[in-house]
Amino acid sequence: MKIARVEKAGRVHLALVDEAKQEVALVGGALASHPNPVLAVIEQGVSAPQLQASVTERVPMTQVRFLAPLSAFLRNPFAVGKNYHEHALEFDKSGFNATSGAASAIPQYPQIFTKATLTLNGPTDPIRFNPKHTQSVDYEGEIGVVIGTTCRNVSKADAMKHVWGFVATNDVTARDLQKNHAQWFLGKSLDGFCPMGPWITTTDEAPTDMRMQTWVNGEQRQSAHISQLIFDVPTLIETMSAAMTLLPGDVILTGTSVGVGVGFNPPKFLRHGDVVRVAITGLGELNNPVEEI
Ligand code: MG
Repeated sequence: MKIARVEKAGRVHLALVDEAKQEVALVGGALASHPNPVLAVIEQGVSAPQLQASVTERVPMTQVRFLAPLSAFLRNPFAVGKNYHEHALEFDKSGFNATSGAASAIPQYPQIFTKATLTLNGPTDPIRFNPKHTQSVDYEGEIGVVIGTTCRNVSKADAMKHVWGFVATNDVTARDLQKNHAQWFLGKSLDGFCPMGPWITTTDEAPTDMRMQTWVNGEQRQSAHISQLIFDVPTLIETMSAAMTLLPGDVILTGTSVGVGVGFNPPKFLRHGDVVRVAITGLGELNNPVEEI
């Protein structure tokens, strides 16, 4: 299934998405009034037929506004640094990597960090920042993984059993803060710096080799396939679950590809009025305007 939260005439609805028909089916019943209904669907293992049985209305996609599929992050979303070869090289050369100087730009082990919970942002909502605070805001189109079941010490072979679905994400980053504060958390955690959506696609419906592409104002900047990850999704889950329990609704941003703004000379940072589009096959697309406030 493809599941979303949408707003129609001022009301928020849980919805199933039919991408081919460009239609959403609004879901009623007990889940409809849950404060975080998509998380409830994941946690309770609610099936597509169960949701279909509670559909109250079908409407064209153009008549609704898509919200972030999760109403709130349960805890910090996880993210992975330097997980595509060419991006690892461009980032190391950029001068914005506070940890550069290591023997190799290509990490030996997955580099896991988190973003604060209030980074959550909708698929069409503005990415806002104060230019007095940061002058180097950058996009990072990424394929996000949504965990379905509580897990600890999972082997690579079993990892995908714990993945509920995939979602388009943008790991928006303030490069100057990322560099100046050495730890990436601050530069990755400005409010609204994690647009996600427009829906979550369950693993059974997700294409096997998803392609992630990013444009800024229509100019293509990024294009990569999930098969090009240095550390694939099972490896990430094995690594993370060896250290900590993963929970239903946890989101893992799997890393960005070559083509981020800081990789250009001179860098192409985001400015007021820009629009960032991230599209992933089978997962829909984000279209976030940039606002300096
Ligand atoms: Mg990233």
